[in-house]
Amino acid sequence: MEKKQINLLLVDDDPADRKLTQLALRDGLYNIALQINTADSLASCLEAIRSGNIDLILLDLGLPDSRGMVTIDQVRQTSPDIPIIVLTGLSDEEIGVEAIKRGAIDYITKPVNQTVLKTRIGIALQTVELKQKLLQLANTDGLTNLDNRRHFFDILDREILRSKINGTDLSVMMLDIDHFKSTNDTYGHRGGDDILRQMGQILKENIYPLDFAARYGGEEFIVLMPATSPIKAAQAAARLRKVIDRYQWKVGENTISITASIGLASIDAYNLVNSYDIVEKADAALYAAKRRGRNCVICWDEVNGEQEDDHPDNRVYRELQRKVGSLVKQLQSHALGTISAFTRALDMVVKEPYLLHHGENVRIYATAIAQEMGLSNELCERIGHAALLQDIGKIVVPPQILKKTTPLSNEEMAIIKQHPSAAARILEPVGLFSLELQIIKCHHERFDGKGYPAGLKGREIPIGARILALADALDAMTSTQSYRKPKSINDAVAEIHAGSNTQFDPEVVEAFNKVYANHKGDWPLSAAFTEVPAAAATS
Ligand code: GH3
Ligand code: MG
Ligand code: MG
Repeated sequence: MEKKQINLLLVDDDPADRKLTQLALRDGLYNIALQINTADSLASCLEAIRSGNIDLILLDLGLPDSRGMVTIDQVRQTSPDIPIIVLTGLSDEEIGVEAIKRGAIDYITKPVNQTVLKTRIGIALQTVELKQKLLQLANTDGLTNLDNRRHFFDILDREILRSKINGTDLSVMMLDIDHFKSTNDTYGHRGGDDILRQMGQILKENIYPLDFAARYGGEEFIVLMPATSPIKAAQAAARLRKVIDRYQWKVGENTISITASIGLASIDAYNLVNSYDIVEKADAALYAAKRRGRNCVICWDEVNGEQEDDHPDNRVYRELQRKVGSLVKQLQSHALGTISAFTRALDMVVKEPYLLHHGENVRIYATAIAQEMGLSNELCERIGHAALLQDIGKIVVPPQILKKTTPLSNEEMAIIKQHPSAAARILEPVGLFSLELQIIKCHHERFDGKGYPAGLKGREIPIGARILALADALDAMTSTQSYRKPKSINDAVAEIHAGSNTQFDPEVVEAFNKVYANHKGDWPLSAAFTEVPAAAATS
């Protein structure tokens, strides 16, 4: 049997002590091979933690860049779950005791004794394994081996946050076995338990790998479907209902029929709710499925309509809500028209033909990428608005800079860099474009954190802004501008690929590749406008 391997991080700034510890551990533990990584400062320790799969840390608290309990606090902040054994001097065992209070699992005095070191590491690893087993037990339902309700809510909270960051949908399916009481009455509690176990197995085998199934309680089950739209969720639920209906359920010697009712609820990234809200909606939908005769799937949206009919007051309220919603959409569209006309007038003054079509081109590119990434319709539309509104900030940039044909000076560059924030200041009082504003403010941030104005990095940058950044660059590269000729689309695409993971989000680049493959004939859009439009030339 192959030996288990543990990655140990030895943090000690004294080369002699480090050597001694390494020597003591060179043969590994009894049935465990040790891979020993070393660090000689807090900074290199934190770096090693971030970059590797460290299982255990041996930590000397006196490091050149951090001393005492602060060291342990810093390490725990970076990795709350990796066990730490503190190395202390012979004379300061009370420091070891204090370290345990701060979250260390054990302490060992230096100079290390080989047997003591190996034994204590062995005990620490056993403790950790035990803790993991306990955690697994605490998260698992004993009968079905699915996760339990408590763990489900932990995961749901995390996934709702992830949806918010990534701008993706999320759906939840609540499933309840029909007439289970009579199954219990006929076949006894033990027979009922058999059915519940089989249901656990069916769920495990019939959900997508990224979905998460749990026993919610009694004969109720719940499935979390991250990044799943209402339509996809409804298809998955319909498939699952059919599998259950056709399955040959075994109770002792008997084969029986079982059906289940399913309620569905979804949220889109734009309209996030908390975890209890979405579960409540799925539960209301499940209740409606029972009322409709069982063995069927109902979405919360349908229930929502039913409730409206049930209560006249609700109907009036929802009608009003719909009207206000449509009014806000109309206002947005008017404001968008006015602002676009205003920017166009500005572009004509500047006589930079590229600017005339830039907003619209970027809107088309950005919306296509957003749709490819599966973002909600609402979010796709708002990213489109942001594309149209983005360049309004250029009003703070004097035309001579915008039209300059030679490289920009540092001061001129600084003025250009103000444009996203300026756009935000201009649009803020309009009060209709809060989401668009966030996107615009961040559309010159870079994925590697080297952009402006805030130097945000990776997923700190809103998804809309990450998409807009690529769409904006694509149109800029493929259009004629005062200071240079357009690049060919192939060169522009190559440049986008080269910027993946530095300037651009690799996931956005991947989505772009897919949409571009379908638009090879008609992109770049700027090819249609290579001449200076008459209006701009004569104004
Ligand atoms: P409906 O179609 O409306 O869901 O009817 P039902 O009979 O399934 O629903 P009801 O809530 O009236 O009954 C649920 C039953 O599930 C009652 C309870 O004894 C049984 N039950 C709950 N947990 C367990 C369990 O762990 N094992 C077994 N065997 N039965 C359970
Ligand atoms: Mg039931
Ligand atoms: Mg029930």
